[in-house]
Amino acid sequence: MRAAILSTGDELTTGRTLDTNANFIADHLVAIGIDVAAVLVVGDYPERIAWAWREAMTQADVILSTGGLGPTADDLTTETVAAVAGVGLRMEPAVADRIRQMFAAMGREMPENNLKQAMFPLGAEIIPNGLGTAPGFRLTLAAAHGPVHGIVLPGVPREMKQMLTDSVLPWLRGARGGADEYRSHTFQTFGISESALDELVAGALDPAASRLAFRAAFPQISLRVTVHGPPGDVDRRLAAAAATLRARLAPYCYGEGDTTMEAEVGRLLAAAGATIAVAESCSGGLIGHRLTDVPGSSRYLLADVVAYQNAVKESVLGVRAETLAQHGAVSCETAEEMARGARRLVGATLGLATTGIAGPDGGTPDKPVGTVCIALDGPTGTRSRRYQLWGTREWVKLLTSQIALDWVRRAQLGEDPAASAILRR
Ligand code: ATP
Repeated sequence: MRAAILSTGDELTTGRTLDTNANFIADHLVAIGIDVAAVLVVGDYPERIAWAWREAMTQADVILSTGGLGPTADDLTTETVAAVAGVGLRMEPAVADRIRQMFAAMGREMPENNLKQAMFPLGAEIIPNGLGTAPGFRLTLAAAHGPVHGIVLPGVPREMKQMLTDSVLPWLRGARGGADEYRSHTFQTFGISESALDELVAGALDPAASRLAFRAAFPQISLRVTVHGPPGDVDRRLAAAAATLRARLAPYCYGEGDTTMEAEVGRLLAAAGATIAVAESCSGGLIGHRLTDVPGSSRYLLADVVAYQNAVKESVLGVRAETLAQHGAVSCETAEEMARGARRLVGATLGLATTGIAGPDGGTPDKPVGTVCIALDGPTGTRSRRYQLWGTREWVKLLTSQIALDWVRRAQLGEDPAASAILRR
C-alpha cells in the first residue's frame, strides 16, 4: 500500500507553522509498513487543494489529508474533496446535534457557520473527533489505477493525533491486507551523531526483514527498527532484532521506547530514593526546566539555583572568591564548588552544576565560546570535566543540559559520569 500525505493551510505555506502533522502521520504509516510516496503542502485555495488531491491520486492508494475542516470561509477541504470525487454534500444530523451540544456545554449559542462541519461528501464514512467539533471522514475516490482511499482529518495536531491512533491506523491495518503484522521498537541514543549511528548498526540486520529509521530531533537521536512477519512469529523477530541492536548501541543508548533523557534520569533517581539539587550558570535553568517537564519530579528535584553572576555563585552557593579569582567562573574548580554548594544548601543526595560560555561573545583564547564545565557532587565525592562544545548559544545550552543529565544517569547506574561525551561528526 502506498500513501500520500496532504497538509492544507496558509500558515504552512507562509512558514508560520511547521508541518508537524505530516511528520507524525508519516512516522506512523512507515511503522505499519505503508510506503509514503509523497507529502504535499498547499495553501487554502480550492484549486490548489484539488491539484494536490489529483496529483496524490496518481501516486497513492491512500491519501491522508489534514487541515481545512474548520467552520470559516477559508476551510475548504470538504467541498473540494467532494468536487474531486464528483459527489455532492449531505448534512449529518447527528454531527450537527453534537456540535450544538458542545456549544451548549460551554454556555454558548452555536454560530450557524459551524453547521458546515456537519457536511460530508456523499458516500463518506465519518471519523469521530473526541476532542473538537470537526469530525473527519473517509471517502473512496476513483483513480486511473483503481480505488483510492481518501482520509480527511482536522488540522489541530491534538485532534488529528487521537483520530489517527484510535480510528485511522486500525482501519489502515485492515485495509492494507496481507497476513503479516508489523512491530517496532525504538532506541534513544546520546553521544553519537546520526551518521556514526548509521555506521554502527550497518549490516546488523537483514534489510529484507527489517527496516531502520533514524530520527534526529536534537537532543533526541533515536533509532527505530520495524520488522514484519506472520502473527505467531513477529514478536520473536522483533525481540531478536532488538537484541542485536541493543548489543551494538549499548555505549550510547540511554533508553528504549518513547522516553527522554530527563525521564530516564527521573526514573533512576526515584527508584533509588535519591534527590538532586542543581546549580546552573550557562544552562540558565534549562536542566531544571527539563527535569520538571517530567510529572512527579518533585520526588527527586529539591532545587535549581540559576547562579548567573559571580556574586550569586559566592553568596548563595558558597563558591569561594579565591576560586573565582584564581580559576575563573568557567572552570572545573568553580563547577565543583557550585555542585557542592547546591547539594549542601538543600541536603540533596546529589549536586549537579554547569558553568560555561554559551556565546556568541565572551570567549577567550584559553576559554573559547563553547567551553563548558560540568560537576557532580555526591556521597562518593566530586567529579568534574571541561568540555569544548560548539554551535549557537541555544545549541550550547541544550548540549550542556543533555550532557549534565547524562552525568546523573551514568552516576545512578554506577558508571563514570565523566565518560559522557559526544562523538562529533
Ligand atoms: P479548525 O476547526 O481549528 O479550523 P482545521 O481542520 O480547519 O481546524 P486548520 O484551521 O487548518 O485546521 O488548523 C488548525 C490549527 O492546527 C492551527 O493552529 C494550525 O496552525 C494547526 N495546524 C494545521 N495544520 C497543521 C500541520 N500540518 N502541522 C502542524 N499544525 C497544523
